[in-house]
Amino acid sequence: MMETLKAAVNGYGTIGRRVADAILKQDDMELAGVTKTSPDFRFLEAREKGIRVFAVSDNRPFERRGYQTEGTLKDLLKEADVVVDCAPKHSGFENLEIYNRFPGLKAIFQGGEKHSLTNFSFNSQCNYNEAGGKRNVRVVSCNTTALCRVISQIDRFYKIKKARVAVVRRSVDPGDSNKKGPVNAWEPALEYPSHHATDVSTVMPHIRISSLAGIAPMTIMHGHMLFAEFHKGPETTADVIRILSENKRIKVVSSEDGFLSTAQLKDYAESNGRNGNMYEVCVWKEGIGLDEDGELGMHIAIDQQADVVPENIDAIRAMFGMMSAEESIAKTNASLGIGSKSRVLEKEETILS
Ligand code: NAD
Repeated sequence: MMETLKAAVNGYGTIGRRVADAILKQDDMELAGVTKTSPDFRFLEAREKGIRVFAVSDNRPFERRGYQTEGTLKDLLKEADVVVDCAPKHSGFENLEIYNRFPGLKAIFQGGEKHSLTNFSFNSQCNYNEAGGKRNVRVVSCNTTALCRVISQIDRFYKIKKARVAVVRRSVDPGDSNKKGPVNAWEPALEYPSHHATDVSTVMPHIRISSLAGIAPMTIMHGHMLFAEFHKGPETTADVIRILSENKRIKVVSSEDGFLSTAQLKDYAESNGRNGNMYEVCVWKEGIGLDEDGELGMHIAIDQQADVVPENIDAIRAMFGMMSAEESIAKTNASLGIGSKSRVLEKEETILS
């Protein structure tokens, strides 16, 4: 029997540090260590948490500051069964060459890489079983993860004829406010469809979907306006609320409870023991509607820094065949507090039942 699985995280940035924190919360895997390119505050943060830090390639910047690492990425990879690549987007092809030099090492990449890097794009609730035995897997982006969750949950109950989505992207992550972004303007992605629809098709090829996207001057969460036509759809919005609420990775929230914008959702995530991470995709109850043709519409909010984190944990278990999709999703949910019921949501369920 394999000893506890050892996972490495290459790139301790926005996604990497959250994936590392999530690995630390699992009882069936160990964090072998993380890598850093430079000795900045995240290096200190990792060390304060007792995480072993390795240099990506060059130890000298650390030595110059009087800090010691545990070695380099190559030393870390020798110890690991799987590496979760959280390096900046488009580093994937270069990094895959490095990983391939370690026989038996599996690798998980993020949504900033192309589907063609691994030829397999992952979402826990859509294709967990197909990841079994794969050496390399790509967890789709935050936006695509959200769309896969919501669309697959609806499609399980009502067959979708065609989905359309308008994607309002945050300009930069909150910690990157020194980077560029539209400061006071709307920056449309000048392509139709935007890459989001194409990316959903890498996971759910049977769904017909089209998308348009653009960047707004905000750092807190992405927003989607999703529309769906059906072959045979829901009769009431209560039906939609009920099926969405059944999925722990989707949180149906209400304006009656003061959730009027993404600001309150993030604020809520700050105060309930999740370190500000809203792992669930949020859907506003009052924004769900059906028009006279039976077309469904809804507003969705996505914490871009958090929703892919549980998927990375599930991807590890899926690739190593450690347990079924249902078991892994439930285990990851429990470890990260996903789907934990607030008093507000319990009240919501009582009203629905
Ligand atoms: P980031 O810039 O916040 O973090 C990347 C980290 O990797 C930094 O600490 C950087 O110093 C380090 N790094 C630089 N070069 C490296 C190399 N060659 N090897 C290893 N590490 C290196 O980036 P991020 O936002 O965490 O994005 C990582 C991946 O996750 C990308 O593919 C991105 O598209 C994807 N993603 C990002 C978000 C998001 O909202 N930030 C959401 C979902 C998916």
